Amino acid sequence: MSKLAILGGTPLRTNDFPNRVTMGEEEKRAALRVLDSDVLSGFVGAAGKFFNGGKEVVAFEELWANTYGFKNAISVNSWTTGLQVAVGASGIEPGDEVICPPYSMSASASSVLFYGGIPIFADLDPNRYTLDPLSVERCVTPRTRAIMVVHLFGYPADIDAIMAIAQRHKLRVIEDAAQAPGIFYKGRPVGTIGDVGGFSLNFHKHIHTGEGGLIVTNSDETALRCRLIRNHGENATEEYGVEDISNMIGSNYRFTELQAAIGTEQFKKLKGFLTHRTLLAQYLDSRLKSLPGLTIQQIESGSTHSYYMYPVRFDEEVVGISRNLFLRAVAAELPKPRFWDTTPFAEGYVKPLYLNPIYQKKIAIGKKGFPFNCNPGITYEYPKGLCPVTEKLYEKELLLSPLVREGMDIGDIKDFADAIEKVMGSIKELQNLSVESGSESVYDAVKAIDDNVD
Ligand SMILES: *Cc1c(COP(=O)(O)O)cnc(C)c1O
Repeated sequence: MSKLAILGGTPLRTNDFPNRVTMGEEEKRAALRVLDSDVLSGFVGAAGKFFNGGKEVVAFEELWANTYGFKNAISVNSWTTGLQVAVGASGIEPGDEVICPPYSMSASASSVLFYGGIPIFADLDPNRYTLDPLSVERCVTPRTRAIMVVHLFGYPADIDAIMAIAQRHKLRVIEDAAQAPGIFYKGRPVGTIGDVGGFSLNFHKHIHTGEGGLIVTNSDETALRCRLIRNHGENATEEYGVEDISNMIGSNYRFTELQAAIGTEQFKKLKGFLTHRTLLAQYLDSRLKSLPGLTIQQIESGSTHSYYMYPVRFDEEVVGISRNLFLRAVAAELPKPRFWDTTPFAEGYVKPLYLNPIYQKKIAIGKKGFPFNCNPGITYEYPKGLCPVTEKLYEKELLLSPLVREGMDIGDIKDFADAIEKVMGSIKELQNLSVESGSESVYDAVKAIDDNVD
């Protein structure tokens, strides 16, 4: 075994990993078609023919809906606003508790706060990285109204178990499938297994429109409420015969014709992207599964994974060095990242959400503690240690790779696997080496690269 690069040896590969190129001729032609039409948005903020957007928007929504059998699809200008719409349309009121995972993009929980709901964090299943149904059950109180399910990294949460809890306690289920477009849970497409769900179309997601999102629901009533919030609902509740006007204060969360036209072309590529990522992941699985101390994700029958991130669980006791040192040793074997998605491994994902000041100080809307002060006699606390499985994943166990993606081929992934194997073969030589400790999340990796690259 040759000497590790981190100890002064020759790196396994020095030429850069390929970039992810996201736009092609199809998107360019679609964008030009809209520019030539001169209609960049077809929306009007009043009931009538243009309340639901222009022809590109409607076609884009129908394409998704028809492909996956969603009864309704509602485009929005981001999935963050989509989550807010979903929470509002679900009837969340000040003081209502919503059970959320603590390990997700912040909007999965902050969207609840916009309607005065209170996020209650349940812990994760350490194998799926998604809500642990037993922990969810323990969080249910008489004030619980909904469960926010996130299909993290693109693998579905155990949603049958969560739906059973929801049915028992009459709770709404919102599916944050931002990272899981086109993904199936035991044969059913994610997004509409719960009451309402949806996908992100931001630049970092599988397919994108710069910014954007898509809400899906099989309930016509929920769909109407979403469409009202998207487009100045306060102007249109009477025309649409909406009796319960709570939460129908609308905003402008509309998707443009330009985004929709580009999005339609992107959507046509989604299946191909997912197939490619699965191929790369299966190869990587086959290489990593026999390495002691690394646990790859198990895929249950009928379910699929989008590999928004490729997750590996790391056991420092078995491997014999810290995750931090392991990650640095692997990185030293490979080309220096030029962009966040050429980073071989990131340590963990985000800091558990409840450790952010918004929950620690319980200051969200205004300065008086709203909505955490909505239920007299009940004090909400978010102490460190609240979700031990999540904290351990964040601090010690989780490795995430963004390399399983478009632009990379099997040869590139082979180099990645070779680098991991090379480091695994020389652990003894690393045991005396100390590196700076501290967690580096995906977002820290983005920042570090931004600092390095001009
Ligand atoms: C990306 C993402 C969001 C937010 O989507 P935007 O379109 O960026 O607003 C929400 N939840 C999860 C899990 C995400 O990955």
